[in-house]
Amino acid sequence: MLGVVGSGTMGNGIAQVFSMYKHPVVLVDVDAAAVKRGMDAIKGSLDRIVKKERMTADEAQDVLGRIRPSTSVKDLAEAELVVEAIVENTAVKEKLFRDLDAAVRKDAILATNTSSIWVTKIAAATKRPDKVIGMHFMNPVPMMKLVEIIRGHDTSDATTARVMDLAKGLDKTPVEVKDSPGFVSNRVLLPMINEAIFCLHEGVGTAEAIDTVMKLGMAHPMGPLQLADFIGLDVCLAILEVLQKDLGDDKYRPCPLLRKMVMAGHLGKKSGRGFYSYA
Ligand code: NAD
Repeated sequence: MLGVVGSGTMGNGIAQVFSMYKHPVVLVDVDAAAVKRGMDAIKGSLDRIVKKERMTADEAQDVLGRIRPSTSVKDLAEAELVVEAIVENTAVKEKLFRDLDAAVRKDAILATNTSSIWVTKIAAATKRPDKVIGMHFMNPVPMMKLVEIIRGHDTSDATTARVMDLAKGLDKTPVEVKDSPGFVSNRVLLPMINEAIFCLHEGVGTAEAIDTVMKLGMAHPMGPLQLADFIGLDVCLAILEVLQKDLGDDKYRPCPLLRKMVMAGHLGKKSGRGFYSYA
């Protein structure tokens, strides 16, 4: 059995993919309403797959049936591996890892889906740093092939091998990288998104102009501002703050417009409004 903690954008996608590849899953969130939202999102995603005739309705029902919703990490006692996908906040993640360390089997692997926080720091909150690793899925999880695998300072070879195998078994492509703020993916992506927001802020181009330049000119499937809306502007801001602080370089300073939009509650697709409108 596999566990997922956090049933938001990433957690429900990870639980869905685990179950689609026949792993029984326990999906944990803070309260019943949050975990229900996660289960509803999975159901919606499966319905779309059935509509496209890539799965039968019976198969979708089986996938849903393999996921057990829960509000307690105690239900993860028998999990062989747990992926954490809760809010991007170091203190909150450290507390969860302390709780997980006490709740799960001694040989269980604890993986984090963090976008930017040191895996080594999260691992240090446990008594099993050799079994803690970054398993960074991309959004939307069912569609994206990459899983960035991040080794903390003390992550063992056995843990890394197990997680690489698990990712391959989900038809994903795992890529191993070292622990460093933002890893490779967000260290490269977020400065580009931030620069696109600066272009908008300074009136260099409209959102549509900036995104069109990057789509047609650089063959990106999605422009950086639309991508920021999909990631969540609060998540983008949190990652840039980690890059600026932990790499000690102000070239990662978040654009004031990004800060202002997060303050105003315009978080992108999930709130209905970001650089674009999603009414
Ligand atoms: P989200 O806000 O959509 O979901 C987070 C969920 O975690 C919520 O349902 C919340 O109720 C739950 N939660 C918060 N604290 C909890 C706790 N202590 N115990 C159990 N559940 C708790 O966030 P998300 O976008 O899914 O991001 C989750 C993680 O994945 C973050 O670390 C983020 O940086 C990372 N990530 C996000 C993306 C993305 O595109 N959104 C991509 C890759 C990685």
